[in-house]
Amino acid sequence: MRTKLAAGNWKMNGLSAGLDQLSEMETAASGAAEVLICPPATLVASAASRDGSIAIGGQDCHAAASGAHTGDISAEMLADAGATYVILGHSERRTDHDEHDDEVRAKCKAAWEAGLKVVLCVGESEAQRDAQNTLDIIGGQLAGSIPDGATGHNLVVAYEPIWAIGTGKVPTTDQIGEVHDFMRARLEKRFGEGVGRSVRLLYGGSVKPGNATEIFAVSNVDGALVGGASLKASDFVPIIEALN
Ligand code: 13P
Repeated sequence: MRTKLAAGNWKMNGLSAGLDQLSEMETAASGAAEVLICPPATLVASAASRDGSIAIGGQDCHAAASGAHTGDISAEMLADAGATYVILGHSERRTDHDEHDDEVRAKCKAAWEAGLKVVLCVGESEAQRDAQNTLDIIGGQLAGSIPDGATGHNLVVAYEPIWAIGTGKVPTTDQIGEVHDFMRARLEKRFGEGVGRSVRLLYGGSVKPGNATEIFAVSNVDGALVGGASLKASDFVPIIEALN
């Protein structure tokens, strides 16, 4: 059985005072589902130093272990700060920083070497969906971004249609199910049934308390990667509870 995962991506939001929200999430976070919060890098160490059952992750890491990369953060630094996860290949990184599959793959290797678990993001644009290229795009991103050596322990895949992120638009449950079943089949084919069945698959894009239950009932949806609704406990707790 795959442990459900409620993951929050705070993106470039959150000051120290925002860590109070973690305390308010703790009761829900001690249930059956695993809870992960990925705050901005400035808050990783303080978030990870709290007692409690919420796992802490980074939002990106460099592919190199160290060196002359001003402003960047290595996977080992995230692990040293107490992170156990890192989000890689988010569409905002792919767009804002021109990250492509080969770079995401190299970052994934670096993260695994540092002992971090990876939440690897894939997703199509609205134009790609309209052109009926969704499964080709997702298949290409899975093949290109995930290195050999994936396991159910070191990899989580998040399907985040770009057009659903921060827009309030959500795919139908049939559309989510189609992509998640496809991803499961691709992972089983490449890594074998055992590994393929153990990797958790999250849906992300405008998940809110009001739609979480319906989304979590879709086959092969093992949780969510939540942006805006993970910033406040009053929004995120009902989403966690829908998984518990
Ligand atoms: P929203 O939940 O704000 O749409 O963001 C989704 C996302 O990009 C999470 O990584």
